[in-house]
Amino acid sequence: SRQIQWFPGHMTKTLRLMEKEIRNVDCVLQILDARIPLSSLNPEIERITAGKPHLYVLNKSDLADPEITRQWLAYFKSAGAGCIAMDSKQRGRATATKGLIEKELSALMERRRNRGMVGAAIRVMVVGIPNVGKSTFINQVAKRKSAKAGNRPGVTRGRQWVSVDAGLDLLDTPGILWPKFEDEATGLHLAFTGAVKDEVMDAETLACRLLELLAARYPNALEQRYQIPADLSGQGWELLEACGRKRGFLISGGEVDTERAAKMLVGEFRASKWGRLSLERPPQRDDMADFAEEDEE
Ligand code: GDP
Repeated sequence: SRQIQWFPGHMTKTLRLMEKEIRNVDCVLQILDARIPLSSLNPEIERITAGKPHLYVLNKSDLADPEITRQWLAYFKSAGAGCIAMDSKQRGRATATKGLIEKELSALMERRRNRGMVGAAIRVMVVGIPNVGKSTFINQVAKRKSAKAGNRPGVTRGRQWVSVDAGLDLLDTPGILWPKFEDEATGLHLAFTGAVKDEVMDAETLACRLLELLAARYPNALEQRYQIPADLSGQGWELLEACGRKRGFLISGGEVDTERAAKMLVGEFRASKWGRLSLERPPQRDDMADFAEEDEE
């Protein structure tokens, strides 16, 4: 099977750095992409940071389906993990983040107060996949203006503490993936949203898979944006050609320039031109009920 492999050397270094620094922090805040919370949750980071309290931020929630984000929030909460939805490009998100951290770590803060450790700041390691919006998030929470924020995955940065205020320090870490994705869908979803470099995967294949997924989940969005019938669903190549033809992306002989159409489609998805879409839903209660029934038999 074709798997997307993306694990350059600096990511191994980052994992080692995290392993070393984990004992110096009070909790781990993992930034997820609200459109793909499962695929953007790094199992390597979970493994390395096990034993510390975990918090999750569903970032880019302004691009995700609001109803599905609500379901994800309920899902994480029912699993006992602190979680908030976030649009890091919006100002004034520091209060919500501090609220999440203070609520989740209230017992720890209480213990510290009782021991007279009044001045000790809460230290939070901030982790996430490349391009998930970690720099933007940290800048917004710490009210920083500077620091890197670009739409390019894989830019290396060193270990860096950022002080939010007297009570809270954030440890910034470079965005990383993991050596091998569990299934093809994970790799695809990471590629759709721009977490793996585009060079890793063929543009047309990427666009075909994206079109198939969206034709199944959001047929109206596809029809509205490209005026193509969604009954072509399941046939990525035909959808790609139809979209390209609608846009007039033709080469000699009236053939569709599928390469150009593919780049346009993926670009428009990333720029949220199709509306607010989520590619992954949490396991439904019904699924769990089915599971329970099977268990009883
Ligand atoms: P990093 O690689 O994780 O540090 O990601 P960056 O902070 O550099 O952000 C990657 C891209 O996502 C940039 O183009 C940001 O402007 C954009 N971005 C970050 N957070 C959000 C968000 O909450 N919503 C939207 N729409 N875009 C975001």
